[in-house]
Amino acid sequence: MEKFIYLDYAATTPVRPEVVEAMMPYFTEKFGNPSSLYTEGRNARGAIEEARDRVAASIGAESREIVFTSGGTEADNFAIKGIAYANEKKGNHIITTPIEHHAVLEPCHYLRKRGFEITYLPVDEHGMVDPADVERTITGKTVLVSVMHANNEVGTIEPLSEIGKITREKGVYLHTDAVQTFGHIPVDVNELGVDLLSISAHKLYGPKGIGALYIRRGTRMEPFMQGGSQENNRRAGTHNVAGIIGFAKAVEIAEKEMVSEAKRLAELRDYLIRGILERIEDVRLNGHPTKRLPNNVNVCLVGAEGEAILLSLDMEGISSSSGSACTSGTLDPSHVLLAMGIPAEIAHSSLRLTLGSRTTKEDIDYVLDVLPPIVKRLRAMSPLGTAWGRK
Ligand SMILES: *Cc1c(COP(=O)(O)O)cnc(C)c1O
Repeated sequence: MEKFIYLDYAATTPVRPEVVEAMMPYFTEKFGNPSSLYTEGRNARGAIEEARDRVAASIGAESREIVFTSGGTEADNFAIKGIAYANEKKGNHIITTPIEHHAVLEPCHYLRKRGFEITYLPVDEHGMVDPADVERTITGKTVLVSVMHANNEVGTIEPLSEIGKITREKGVYLHTDAVQTFGHIPVDVNELGVDLLSISAHKLYGPKGIGALYIRRGTRMEPFMQGGSQENNRRAGTHNVAGIIGFAKAVEIAEKEMVSEAKRLAELRDYLIRGILERIEDVRLNGHPTKRLPNNVNVCLVGAEGEAILLSLDMEGISSSSGSACTSGTLDPSHVLLAMGIPAEIAHSSLRLTLGSRTTKEDIDYVLDVLPPIVKRLRAMSPLGTAWGRK
């Protein structure tokens, strides 16, 4: 039988059968528009509100503080532009980090071109933000601080609650992209001290195309889309009913399994890291050694090119990710690794393996068998600094 070992759970996860089952009726017999006033509409509306209650409770929020969106990207865009445009009278300064997901970096870039000032906080060699830098950087013009809860590439978990104490004291809104943590480690909006928080269903075994933005009560916010009065006039458009139901089902299951699954994955993660470090020379573990997502392994296999490792692993039936983003034909090393001070030629050798529900110890052993010869072969083909790492 052909191998299929999926180790890219940070990119997306398979939808659980129970989630599909919960969604199905909302495509067919329960197809009503939740904005309609007759029975079918009211039933769909009721199901959405139950789902909202579940999502809200899972992060310690009130139901009316949850706005359903088309996913994490929309939630991030909504948070950043919504705060920026609603608080322009107070100021035009936004603070974020250089290691954010593009769903945060690009709206910030967009705003910069339109007169906003963006400050990027430094991160240390593990990709960690220093809360003292947040305090130093806030000015009277600052309207928003946006720092991700955990990084999607290197898995580092940021000191959000300490940052939250500072932003509260200074009266500045705090947003966090919690797409990688929600459903995997505890996320509580009050413990983190955040005013806005982005989540997405397809990173926790729910469907793609549905997510939510938590908006703390009383936050000054522009609506994201104009149209109907859905979501309390904050996000117009007919609800993705089946998606919302599936999202809530995925949250329900994640809550039950989170503690045991995080423990299981952290053990497999550490086993994989140890195995790589033992079997391959010249390896750099990226991300924080302990404050990291339970399922994240990210290494630089110095001297081999990440994209080539990925393709070689794919031929062995393993799905992985390299940090490089292929833009307009050139391979750019990961912006996250560069921000952590890793030289470009080393950053080019990064490999990310993210574990999940279907990952077994046998899978990890298989990776530990096939990876060392791949790296050896690629290193022999591409001596450092000649075949790669140069324009
Ligand atoms: C996946 C991801 C997103 C984007 O979420 P979508 O639902 O795919 O739009 C945003 N931020 C982080 C950290 C992610 O991992």
